[in-house]
Amino acid sequence: MSLETEDPNKKKKKNSFLVVNGEYCAAHECVAMQACPEEAMTQEGTNPPEIDITKCTLCEVCLHFCDYGALEVHTLQLNL
Ligand code: SF4
Repeated sequence: MSLETEDPNKKKKKNSFLVVNGEYCAAHECVAMQACPEEAMTQEGTNPPEIDITKCTLCEVCLHFCDYGALEVHTLQLNL
């Protein structure tokens, strides 16, 4: 019998993803995008940035650089 249990934070991240709320996003060059260590964000002009979920590790660094609160981590609630 294994005594290992799954890390609850890891499980939470598995069902989570980063969302850009365009309503809050100001029309400017995204500072949060420049802070992303994974280069997971791209931006066309001053449009809200897009997230490449294949690169995003949900480290949440970008959340600290967005002064407008436009970046949020959403977690899916799965009732299986
Ligand atoms: S959560 Fe981390 S990896 Fe994902 S976009 Fe933000 S800074 Fe980049």
